Amino acid sequence: MNKVICIDGPAGSGKSTTARAVADGTGVLFVDSGALYRIMTWQALKAGVPTDDPAAVAAFAPNVKVEFAVRGNRVAYLVDGREPGDLIRTPEINANVSPVSAVPEVRAIVTGWLRKLPELGDIVVEGRDIGSVVYPDSKCRFYLDCDPDERARRRQKEDAGKGFVQTTEQVKASLLNRDKIDSSRKTAPLKVPEGAIRIDTTRLSVAEVVAKILDASGIAAK
Ligand code: C5P
Repeated sequence: MNKVICIDGPAGSGKSTTARAVADGTGVLFVDSGALYRIMTWQALKAGVPTDDPAAVAAFAPNVKVEFAVRGNRVAYLVDGREPGDLIRTPEINANVSPVSAVPEVRAIVTGWLRKLPELGDIVVEGRDIGSVVYPDSKCRFYLDCDPDERARRRQKEDAGKGFVQTTEQVKASLLNRDKIDSSRKTAPLKVPEGAIRIDTTRLSVAEVVAKILDASGIAAK
């Protein structure tokens, strides 16, 4: 089986930036698992499904169809033949994605999709339950952590670049709210996977975090 590098952690801990940099430096394919939960949420909202009703979300979830394609060094998701882009990164999706992703039927579908992706090549997957539930047998499992104020600063800057104007305090409240729902849900809660390597990214550069991951995974930079 192809290699799977798992990177878990709370929102804004640097998972996505780090996983993309790992992919850029090695030719391993980047996989954003949160985007699949965002697609589920986007489709549910579009269909008028009440996202606070787990039974309604569970009944709707099997209707969501996603195609997977390799684009450069990442796995792209196509819905109706198109990549959703920033349509799945709005404050509305941020506010609804955690309750949707807490629904066990949604998790079973997304986990099934993720487990097929090593067929496409070596992958680096970032998310909340990758090393604990999706690939617990992977030899390369990491958990990134970071001070909440620093996480909010990073995410506020990133969101501002997408045109979403929010104060750092609003971003921090949204992140902490998601952390709370993600860590306390019954199915696949956010937690440090047993045996994973924990890295605090608060005072580390992306390059330093990537170097630690490559070193521990036994992967050479290109
Ligand atoms: O990583 P991102 O912020 O895009 O993830 C959005 C949401 O998707 C998270 O807050 C979490 O509720 C959910 N998620 C999850 N399990 C994953 C990845 C994301 O529950 N593996």
